Amino acid sequence: MKVSIFGTGYVGLVTGTCLSEIGHDVTCVDVDEAKIEGLRQGRLPIYEPGLDSMVVRNGSDGRLHFTTDAAAAIAGAEIVFIAVGTPPDEDGSADLQYVLRVAKTIGANLRTSAIVVNKSTVPVGTAQLVRGAIAGELSQRKVEIDFEVVSNPEFLKEGDAVNDCMHPDRIVIGATADAAVDKLKRLYAPFVRNHDRFVVMDVRSAELTKYAANAMLATKISFMNEISNIAERVGADIEMVRRGIGSDPRIGWQFIYPGVGYGGSCFPKDVQALARTAQQHGYRPQLLDAVEEVNERQKAHLFELIHRHFDGQLSDRTVAIWGLAFKPDTDDMRAASSRRLMEQLWAAGARVRAYDPEAMDEARRIYGERVDLVLCDSMEEALRGADALAVVTEWRQFRSPDLAAFRTLGDAVVFDGRNVYDPDELEQAGIAYYGIGRGRSV
Ligand code: NAD
Repeated sequence: MKVSIFGTGYVGLVTGTCLSEIGHDVTCVDVDEAKIEGLRQGRLPIYEPGLDSMVVRNGSDGRLHFTTDAAAAIAGAEIVFIAVGTPPDEDGSADLQYVLRVAKTIGANLRTSAIVVNKSTVPVGTAQLVRGAIAGELSQRKVEIDFEVVSNPEFLKEGDAVNDCMHPDRIVIGATADAAVDKLKRLYAPFVRNHDRFVVMDVRSAELTKYAANAMLATKISFMNEISNIAERVGADIEMVRRGIGSDPRIGWQFIYPGVGYGGSCFPKDVQALARTAQQHGYRPQLLDAVEEVNERQKAHLFELIHRHFDGQLSDRTVAIWGLAFKPDTDDMRAASSRRLMEQLWAAGARVRAYDPEAMDEARRIYGERVDLVLCDSMEEALRGADALAVVTEWRQFRSPDLAAFRTLGDAVVFDGRNVYDPDELEQAGIAYYGIGRGRSV
């Protein structure tokens, strides 16, 4: 099928590449010329394991194209995806300006009937707005062209996005017309050859499904962080508690890791946007508000431990930070907990030496040159001359460190924001240890 995708970010680029991998003819469109030029030369704007070789292969096989020419991309497409950003507005609701701009562009350039598929995470009712924006443009042009607007929310995880796209656990399709559903089922069929993973529903339920999924996952994280704060105060170890509850299949092992809060481009903004939708409909979303509040507090937790350890005297201290991305296997630092920690440390007069396996360019882009930030080339270099280490992202390479290197820290102290180390092992090696909810941080 001939497919066009607007937005070459994490969702658009991964979706477009995977659809080309299964044989479709895909054109990826973006307004960012530098991004498109880079992609044409095989340079990816994001880090996503396994994606670069797929982009290059499908590009040279002639199935994957990159352009800024929206009109040309729309003209020949049977299916047009919208996969642009929906960042939070000032009041926390989703900012739909990019989605609606694409909708207008589609309306202005549609030549033959097509299915418009919204993959961006958008509030309930957005499909209707998209339909209205396209129809408005068509009527201005005084043309009548059939089109359908379908909701097809995306559930991929950054860091494992290619695998999620090629082997989805479900494909939610929110549509009214059977023909559109059938066409999308044919488009995706190779991804779900062995099992029927389609969940077909009405458009509004599909739009809400995406928010419900992210809000549920964020709730699990905030719940565990809440319990970890109790554990800290009562002298219990959250890691024991986690193992004690995860074996119950009703609870499960996933998303019950305590830490320094969730970040990224999805959970924080989606929990807020869903809460905003609820408020707009006259409902007070008490649980969602609490999930966010607990997360905000948790993001400050590592700083509080550091502050307390140094008796509030942080000026002239240097803290090494391992992990800047909001989670491992990505370079994404949007709403990352590392940012909150660094900003709090700087405000208290401390300096930071930071290392992340993938997010160094992103950190450079965000913070530029600062006297109180040294971006280091290795985890070892970050420790050089530092008083303490804070682990913020649980990259695999941080898990088995050289304990002798920890002893070279000015204060021989480690703040483990993801509970990756064994407290006893560190303490036996003469290193002070603070974890999350490990009953010894108070
Ligand atoms: P992103 O910010 O990485 O990429 C968005 C891209 O859209 C940018 O390259 C931007 O230049 C481009 N763009 C903006 N306006 C455009 C226009 N008019 N025409 C063409 N391109 C345009 O965003 P993302 O992380 O891929 O997220 C996209 C959507 O998918 C959001 O709604 C997000 O909530 C949702 N989502 C994201 C993830 C994730 O893990 N990142 C997962 C599921 C759903």
